[in-house]
Amino acid sequence: MIDAHCHIDLFPNPEEIAKQCIDRQVTVVSVTTTPSAYKGTLALAKANPLIFTALGLHPQIAEQRHSELELFDDLAESVQWIGEVGLDGSPECLPTWRKQEAAFSHILQTCERLGGKIMSIHSRCAASSVIEKLSLHKDCGTAILHWFSGTKKEMESAIALGCWFSVGVPMIRTRKGRQLIESIPRSRILTESDGPFVQIDGLPSPPWIVDLASQELAALWRCDTVEVNQQLRLNFDSLRKTIG
Ligand code: MN
Repeated sequence: MIDAHCHIDLFPNPEEIAKQCIDRQVTVVSVTTTPSAYKGTLALAKANPLIFTALGLHPQIAEQRHSELELFDDLAESVQWIGEVGLDGSPECLPTWRKQEAAFSHILQTCERLGGKIMSIHSRCAASSVIEKLSLHKDCGTAILHWFSGTKKEMESAIALGCWFSVGVPMIRTRKGRQLIESIPRSRILTESDGPFVQIDGLPSPPWIVDLASQELAALWRCDTVEVNQQLRLNFDSLRKTIG
Protein backbone atom coordinates (compact mmCIF):
# COMPACT_ATOMS: atom_id res chain seq x y z
CA MET A 1 0.00 0.00 0.00
CA ILE A 2 1.20 3.50 -0.86
CA ASP A 3 -0.10 6.65 0.82
CA ALA A 4 1.60 9.52 -0.99
CA HIS A 5 0.00 12.28 1.10
CA CYS A 6 -0.92 11.94 4.76
CA HIS A 7 -0.75 14.30 7.75
CA ILE A 8 0.23 11.67 10.33
CA ASP A 9 1.24 14.44 12.76
CA LEU A 10 -2.27 15.88 12.81
CA PHE A 11 -4.06 12.72 13.93
CA PRO A 12 -5.00 12.72 17.62
CA ASN A 13 -2.81 9.60 18.03
CA PRO A 14 0.14 10.02 15.63
CA GLU A 15 2.41 7.47 17.34
CA GLU A 16 -0.27 4.81 17.10
CA ILE A 17 -0.88 5.62 13.42
CA ALA A 18 2.86 5.42 12.69
CA LYS A 19 3.10 2.09 14.49
CA GLN A 20 0.15 0.64 12.60
CA CYS A 21 1.80 1.69 9.33
CA ILE A 22 4.61 -0.75 10.14
CA ASP A 23 2.21 -3.53 11.11
CA ARG A 24 0.15 -3.02 7.97
CA GLN A 25 3.19 -2.34 5.71
CA VAL A 26 1.95 0.99 4.38
CA THR A 27 4.49 3.24 2.71
CA VAL A 28 3.63 6.83 3.67
CA VAL A 29 4.72 10.27 2.55
CA SER A 30 4.18 12.07 5.85
CA VAL A 31 3.58 15.71 4.93
CA THR A 32 3.73 18.69 7.27
CA THR A 33 2.02 22.08 7.18
CA THR A 34 4.77 24.18 8.81
CA PRO A 35 8.57 23.98 8.89
CA SER A 36 8.44 24.05 12.71
CA ALA A 37 6.43 20.79 12.64
CA TYR A 38 9.10 18.98 10.63
CA LYS A 39 11.36 17.75 13.44
CA GLY A 40 8.55 16.34 15.58
CA THR A 41 7.01 14.65 12.54
CA LEU A 42 10.36 13.19 11.52
CA ALA A 43 10.57 11.62 14.99
CA LEU A 44 7.40 9.64 14.20
CA ALA A 45 9.29 7.95 11.36
CA LYS A 46 12.09 6.82 13.64
CA ALA A 47 12.71 3.12 13.09
CA ASN A 48 10.15 3.02 10.30
CA PRO A 49 11.82 3.04 6.87
CA LEU A 50 8.39 3.07 5.22
CA ILE A 51 7.60 6.62 6.39
CA PHE A 52 9.10 9.44 4.31
CA THR A 53 8.78 12.77 6.09
CA ALA A 54 8.20 15.86 3.95
CA LEU A 55 9.01 19.46 4.81
CA GLY A 56 6.06 21.75 4.12
CA LEU A 57 4.41 25.13 4.36
CA HIS A 58 0.71 24.82 3.58
CA PRO A 59 -0.66 27.64 1.39
CA GLN A 60 -3.56 28.22 3.79
CA ILE A 61 -1.11 29.32 6.49
CA ALA A 62 1.67 30.63 4.27
CA GLU A 63 0.95 34.23 5.26
CA GLN A 64 0.75 33.54 8.97
CA ARG A 65 3.98 31.47 8.94
CA HIS A 66 5.90 33.56 6.43
CA SER A 67 8.72 34.00 8.95
CA GLU A 68 9.35 30.23 8.88
CA LEU A 69 10.71 30.37 5.33
CA GLU A 70 14.17 30.80 6.77
CA LEU A 71 13.77 27.60 8.78
CA PHE A 72 12.38 25.97 5.63
CA ASP A 73 15.59 26.79 3.75
CA ASP A 74 17.79 25.48 6.56
CA LEU A 75 15.93 22.18 6.80
CA ALA A 76 15.52 21.78 3.03
CA GLU A 77 19.23 21.07 2.61
CA SER A 78 18.91 17.69 4.28
CA VAL A 79 15.48 16.53 3.08
CA GLN A 80 14.44 14.80 -0.10
CA TRP A 81 10.67 15.27 0.25
CA ILE A 82 8.80 18.57 0.26
CA GLY A 83 5.11 18.96 1.10
CA GLU A 84 2.55 20.14 1.63
CA VAL A 85 3.22 23.28 -0.37
CA GLY A 86 1.35 25.06 -3.18
CA LEU A 87 -1.36 27.61 -3.77
CA ASP A 88 -5.02 27.86 -2.77
CA GLY A 89 -7.25 30.16 -4.81
CA SER A 90 -10.52 29.35 -3.07
CA PRO A 91 -12.52 32.43 -1.94
CA GLU A 92 -11.53 32.14 1.73
CA CYS A 93 -7.83 31.99 0.81
CA LEU A 94 -7.76 34.68 -1.88
CA PRO A 95 -6.99 37.50 0.61
CA THR A 96 -3.55 35.93 1.19
CA TRP A 97 -2.87 35.13 -2.46
CA ARG A 98 0.16 37.45 -2.89
CA LYS A 99 1.86 36.04 0.20
CA GLN A 100 1.05 32.49 -0.93
CA GLU A 101 2.65 33.18 -4.30
CA ALA A 102 5.72 34.71 -2.69
CA ALA A 103 6.13 31.72 -0.37
CA PHE A 104 5.58 29.13 -3.11
CA SER A 105 8.04 30.85 -5.49
CA HIS A 106 10.57 31.02 -2.69
CA ILE A 107 10.11 27.30 -1.98
CA LEU A 108 10.47 26.35 -5.65
CA GLN A 109 13.63 28.44 -5.90
CA THR A 110 15.06 26.70 -2.85
CA CYS A 111 14.25 23.29 -4.35
CA GLU A 112 15.88 24.34 -7.60
CA ARG A 113 19.01 25.64 -5.87
CA LEU A 114 19.35 22.38 -3.95
CA GLY A 115 19.22 20.24 -7.08
CA GLY A 116 15.54 19.22 -7.05
CA LYS A 117 13.17 17.59 -4.56
CA ILE A 118 10.05 15.43 -4.69
CA MET A 119 7.16 17.75 -3.85
CA SER A 120 3.56 17.08 -2.81
CA ILE A 121 1.59 20.05 -4.06
CA HIS A 122 -1.80 21.55 -3.18
CA SER A 123 -3.51 23.34 -6.09
CA ARG A 124 -7.15 23.87 -5.06
CA CYS A 125 -8.73 26.53 -7.33
CA ALA A 126 -5.18 27.34 -8.43
CA ALA A 127 -4.20 24.67 -10.95
CA SER A 128 -3.07 27.01 -13.72
CA SER A 129 -1.06 29.22 -11.36
CA VAL A 130 0.65 26.18 -9.84
CA ILE A 131 1.47 24.80 -13.30
CA GLU A 132 2.79 28.18 -14.41
CA LYS A 133 5.05 28.47 -11.36
CA LEU A 134 6.36 24.94 -11.88
CA SER A 135 7.14 25.74 -15.50
CA LEU A 136 9.17 28.77 -14.35
CA HIS A 137 11.28 26.53 -12.09
CA LYS A 138 12.16 23.67 -14.40
CA ASP A 139 14.84 22.21 -12.11
CA CYS A 140 12.82 22.22 -8.88
CA GLY A 141 12.39 18.43 -9.04
CA THR A 142 9.37 16.16 -9.37
CA ALA A 143 5.92 17.54 -8.60
CA ILE A 144 3.07 15.36 -7.35
CA LEU A 145 -0.23 17.22 -7.66
CA HIS A 146 -2.28 15.96 -4.76
CA TRP A 147 -6.09 15.72 -5.13
CA PHE A 148 -6.02 17.58 -8.44
CA SER A 149 -9.32 19.35 -9.15
CA GLY A 150 -8.50 21.53 -12.14
CA THR A 151 -9.82 21.14 -15.65
CA LYS A 152 -8.90 18.42 -18.13
CA LYS A 153 -6.93 20.99 -20.11
CA GLU A 154 -4.96 22.03 -17.02
CA MET A 155 -4.31 18.39 -16.27
CA GLU A 156 -2.94 17.87 -19.78
CA SER A 157 -0.51 20.77 -19.29
CA ALA A 158 0.56 19.28 -15.96
CA ILE A 159 1.14 15.87 -17.56
CA ALA A 160 3.16 17.50 -20.36
CA LEU A 161 5.26 19.23 -17.70
CA GLY A 162 6.06 15.86 -16.10
CA CYS A 163 3.79 16.11 -13.06
CA TRP A 164 2.62 13.10 -11.07
CA PHE A 165 -0.76 12.77 -9.34
CA SER A 166 -1.85 11.34 -6.01
CA VAL A 167 -5.50 10.37 -5.86
CA GLY A 168 -7.68 9.42 -2.94
CA VAL A 169 -11.09 7.91 -2.34
CA PRO A 170 -13.02 11.24 -2.47
CA MET A 171 -11.50 12.05 -5.88
CA ILE A 172 -12.19 8.57 -7.29
CA ARG A 173 -15.76 8.77 -6.03
CA THR A 174 -16.68 11.83 -8.09
CA ARG A 175 -17.47 11.68 -11.79
CA LYS A 176 -15.12 14.55 -12.57
CA GLY A 177 -12.34 12.94 -10.55
CA ARG A 178 -12.74 9.65 -12.39
CA GLN A 179 -12.65 11.40 -15.76
CA LEU A 180 -9.42 13.14 -14.77
CA ILE A 181 -7.88 9.91 -13.50
CA GLU A 182 -8.65 8.19 -16.79
CA SER A 183 -6.43 10.67 -18.61
CA ILE A 184 -3.43 10.23 -16.26
CA PRO A 185 -0.76 7.82 -17.51
CA ARG A 186 -0.86 4.81 -15.17
CA SER A 187 2.86 5.17 -14.61
CA ARG A 188 2.38 8.58 -12.96
CA ILE A 189 -0.33 7.84 -10.46
CA LEU A 190 -0.14 7.20 -6.70
CA THR A 191 -2.79 6.74 -4.01
CA GLU A 192 -3.27 9.00 -0.99
CA SER A 193 -5.35 9.29 2.16
CA ASP A 194 -4.98 13.03 2.97
CA GLY A 195 -5.95 11.99 6.49
CA PRO A 196 -7.04 13.20 8.92
CA PHE A 197 -8.63 15.96 6.80
CA VAL A 198 -10.44 13.49 4.59
CA GLN A 199 -13.18 11.67 6.44
CA ILE A 200 -14.92 8.57 5.21
CA ASP A 201 -18.07 7.40 6.95
CA GLY A 202 -17.48 10.11 9.57
CA LEU A 203 -13.99 8.90 10.54
CA PRO A 204 -10.63 10.48 9.67
CA SER A 205 -9.00 8.44 6.90
CA PRO A 206 -5.95 6.51 8.14
CA PRO A 207 -3.12 5.77 5.68
CA TRP A 208 -4.40 2.22 5.05
CA ILE A 209 -7.60 3.66 3.53
CA VAL A 210 -5.51 3.64 0.32
CA ASP A 211 -6.44 -0.03 0.07
CA LEU A 212 -9.94 1.16 -0.76
CA ALA A 213 -8.52 3.63 -3.30
CA SER A 214 -6.67 0.72 -4.97
CA GLN A 215 -9.88 -1.29 -5.15
CA GLU A 216 -11.66 1.62 -6.76
CA LEU A 217 -8.81 2.16 -9.21
CA ALA A 218 -9.04 -1.52 -10.12
CA ALA A 219 -12.70 -1.04 -11.01
CA LEU A 220 -11.84 2.05 -13.05
CA TRP A 221 -8.95 0.36 -14.86
CA ARG A 222 -10.87 -2.90 -15.25
CA CYS A 223 -8.13 -5.01 -13.73
CA ASP A 224 -7.59 -6.67 -10.35
CA THR A 225 -6.29 -5.00 -7.18
CA VAL A 226 -3.08 -7.07 -7.26
CA GLU A 227 -2.23 -5.54 -10.62
CA VAL A 228 -3.04 -2.03 -9.36
CA ASN A 229 -0.84 -2.51 -6.30
CA GLN A 230 2.04 -3.77 -8.45
CA GLN A 231 1.72 -0.70 -10.65
CA LEU A 232 1.62 1.65 -7.63
CA ARG A 233 4.71 0.01 -6.10
CA LEU A 234 6.57 0.29 -9.39
CA ASN A 235 5.50 3.94 -9.64
CA PHE A 236 6.68 4.80 -6.14
CA ASP A 237 10.06 3.19 -6.79
CA SER A 238 10.51 5.05 -10.06
CA LEU A 239 9.34 8.31 -8.45
CA ARG A 240 12.12 8.03 -5.88
CA LYS A 241 14.64 7.54 -8.67
CA THR A 242 13.65 10.84 -10.33
CA ILE A 243 15.75 12.67 -7.75
CA GLY A 244 19.45 11.92 -7.51
MN1 MN B 1 -3.25 17.69 2.74
